[in-house]
Amino acid sequence: MQKLDRLRTQGAEVFVVGYSVLGRPIYGVFKGDFAGGQVLVQAAMHAREGVTVPVVLDMMENYTGSVGVWCLPMVNPDGVELVREGISSVDDEQKRAYVLEVNGGSEDFSLWKANINAVDLNVNFPAKWGTGGQNVTYPSPGNYIGEYPLSEPESRAVHDFTLKIQPSITLSYHAKGEVIYKGFECADPYPKLAAEIGEATGYGVYTSGGSAGGYKDWFVTTTYLPGLTVEVGKSELSYGQLFAEADNIYARNAQVLDICARFVQDILNG
Ligand SMILES: [Zn+2]
Repeated sequence: MQKLDRLRTQGAEVFVVGYSVLGRPIYGVFKGDFAGGQVLVQAAMHAREGVTVPVVLDMMENYTGSVGVWCLPMVNPDGVELVREGISSVDDEQKRAYVLEVNGGSEDFSLWKANINAVDLNVNFPAKWGTGGQNVTYPSPGNYIGEYPLSEPESRAVHDFTLKIQPSITLSYHAKGEVIYKGFECADPYPKLAAEIGEATGYGVYTSGGSAGGYKDWFVTTTYLPGLTVEVGKSELSYGQLFAEADNIYARNAQVLDICARFVQDILNG
């Protein structure tokens, strides 16, 4: 919230794109011009990957370009709070019992990925939904596809917002592993963008295989525009340990928005 306040005093627009299952706001931030190509960055779709929130907010704070950049810094606020604060963060009694049951009775939620309905938001999108190698079809701390595509308020909010602003590029910030995934199935639009971001960050670039139902998968197949998943943080660190690395992670990603802004012009010019 402090970082959002700072962005507001810089002149950025701060707004709400929807609400989580437990009614928490899903915030958005905008900088740049409304006209011309737009970039969309989203983070913390997975509960345990909360380190991506300060990273993308720092990227926004330091962005001074004219190309419009939209950022949804915390897509899964209920999940992030569950990982940070534990079961006491869930004030709905039925949901509290439900997540405890799904978590096998354990109050250790440090590896939880899902939202509070135990749906993994990044396998809940309409792109070969339910065909991913790791998909599960029952409520789970991770990888549960949900009852139908876009069954969750959080995935619907990101989906609808993307259709509204029609970005030319999307970046999905996840943790961990220091790798970038691009493309979906046979589609690999504007591979030079991923290559350049890979070079700037030092992260390896891979074409994703075996995934389905992800935000990036949906964006790439429906638009044939570049959507990248950026996995930040060293894989040998725990998700909790990554919070201490946020400044270093930001430093490696400091050029990413400027690179995207430059490519938006190429993409618009065809
Ligand atoms: Zn993730």
